[in-house]
Amino acid sequence: MIESLLIANRGEIACRIIRTARALGIRTIAVHSDADAAALHVREADEAVRIGLAPARESYLVADAILAAARESGAAAIHPGYGFLSENADFAEAVIAAGLVWVGPDPASIRAMGLKDAAKERMIAAGVPVTPGYLGDDQSDARLFAEAEAIGWPVLIKAVAGGGGKGMRRVDAAADFADALASCRREAAAAFGDERVLLEKYILSPRHIEVQVFGDRHGQVVHLFERDCSLQRRHQKVIEEAPAPGMDDATRAAVCEAAVRAARAVDYVGAGTIEFIADASTGLSADCIWFMEMNTRLQVEHPVTEAITGVDLVEWQLRIAAGEPLPLAQEALAIHGHAIEARLYAEDPAKGFLPSTGTLTAFSLGDGVRVDSGVEEGDAISPWYDPMIAKLIAHGDTREEARAALAGALDATVVWPVRSNAGFLVEALDHPDFVAGRVDTGLIAREGEALMPPARPSEEALGAAAALLAPPGPLSGFRLNAPRRAESLFLLDGQPIGIASARHGHAARTLPDGRLLVAEGGQSWVLSPWRADGGAEGAGSDGAILSPMPGRVIAVDVAAGQPVIKGQRLVTIEAMKMEHALTAPFDGTVAELPVATGAQVAEGALLVRIATEDQ
Ligand code: ADP
Repeated sequence: MIESLLIANRGEIACRIIRTARALGIRTIAVHSDADAAALHVREADEAVRIGLAPARESYLVADAILAAARESGAAAIHPGYGFLSENADFAEAVIAAGLVWVGPDPASIRAMGLKDAAKERMIAAGVPVTPGYLGDDQSDARLFAEAEAIGWPVLIKAVAGGGGKGMRRVDAAADFADALASCRREAAAAFGDERVLLEKYILSPRHIEVQVFGDRHGQVVHLFERDCSLQRRHQKVIEEAPAPGMDDATRAAVCEAAVRAARAVDYVGAGTIEFIADASTGLSADCIWFMEMNTRLQVEHPVTEAITGVDLVEWQLRIAAGEPLPLAQEALAIHGHAIEARLYAEDPAKGFLPSTGTLTAFSLGDGVRVDSGVEEGDAISPWYDPMIAKLIAHGDTREEARAALAGALDATVVWPVRSNAGFLVEALDHPDFVAGRVDTGLIAREGEALMPPARPSEEALGAAAALLAPPGPLSGFRLNAPRRAESLFLLDGQPIGIASARHGHAARTLPDGRLLVAEGGQSWVLSPWRADGGAEGAGSDGAILSPMPGRVIAVDVAAGQPVIKGQRLVTIEAMKMEHALTAPFDGTVAELPVATGAQVAEGALLVRIATEDQ
């Protein structure tokens, strides 16, 4: 077995690989950029080596820096994880040339599958069905247009060097073709340095079906069944499962056998995935499933395969890299139950899924599922890398059991003040079409609005939180069995709200400053008592108004020397992506105003001081 392993990656996949390596008694070496010096994968590895600056181009993508780290630490092998350098044949070659074990396929196999057009040609030769389309060298506008007409609209233009959902354009009518082609070429040139394209028939009700394959150096190739990754947002996978809903045995046998043929055609060694696209308009059948591409590495969604087969895929990768034969023959592999994975992203569904960064003041994931996380509570999410922070994987005897367990775990997930897509994932898992297994890659785009999580907590959750926060004495107007009249005022994420009834029984967490985190349905809000004397965090009797938390001044509504009246808005600060307006505690004049719009302020910093006549 390999004695020591350098993991050329970060985040959850680096932690995942470390876990298996450690179980096998392998010494683990992490690499990290400056931004990741204190990251979880660094803390979990036996050793860690700095490889450069925060941008991935200056660290995780620098082959020489990683090779130097391997030399320095005496690593015997390199595992690339996924993304970064994992499908870079030159890097694989350099690793092997340095006398290290490369945990991956031969560089020649990576190259053979690296370009979409060449890969498809090879698959056609190996008898693997491919999506109808055009793969030619003639890249002239006229020829591409003629080929598109021959395929029939809609057509998909794909960059031959594409990946990660980039460099694709759907064209519905002849009139749109020229513009789409130009923009696809521009994107492909910028992202991949190669503007060549291929054309494919656009599959109208597409499902993404992929097959996990494994090869060893002794000429064996097996498959570990299929996964369905049809739930996608902008061509990026969001929820994956195994096996594929509605897959019958004959279709499974055909597609898995085609995957093994594809892997054999490139002498594949190690873990790989053959991606297919299925036209699911009339259910899954073997004559409507076509090869799309091969990923010559471990996939993000590999845990669902691990759950249903009981195989540790990273262990197999390491054994095969060490020259061992495949641990199990095809006949010994079987599907047990059903597994579903959800990708937890640090992003804000309410703001167009914009990535969200900051410190994870609160971070806890629900129980009863496998969690592959790259972070812990207290860690920071930096803006430098992919916003996926963890994966939750549920396994059950049935699909419904796995689905309910995953939805339940996400429902109980708390991520704050960083925003996450947990609430969105709950909605997606509970969507009637997903529940019924009616999935296709257009589902999320089609149902967009219906999948948006609620903008505020339920009355139950608010009432329970209010009960915990309520100042001494009853909430004004709250009486048992009495009609609700006045409401108590609170601030929800900085906005005043009235809460009529307080009741107990809902989970909430107190934050250090007396505010309350209200978590529900995978979402989190902050509730604080509203005080008439200056917002959530009032001023002392000396009239000094201090910043309740570190933040930025986004508005100053008064000037020094100006008279103000009680309750008048003075300064608004933005902290943890929320606005806090601070108001005058009593009538007086602005005696001190040491801040201006745009200023960064520390917690407790003086923002304004109001003086009365006699002060
Ligand atoms: P990338 O390499 O960028 O991930 P893929 O070729 O794997 O690109 O395609 C990504 C996704 O785009 C697929 O999972 C599917 O949702 C969609 N897609 C790809 N090809 C087609 C097609 N011919 N028709 C319809 N959708 C497609």
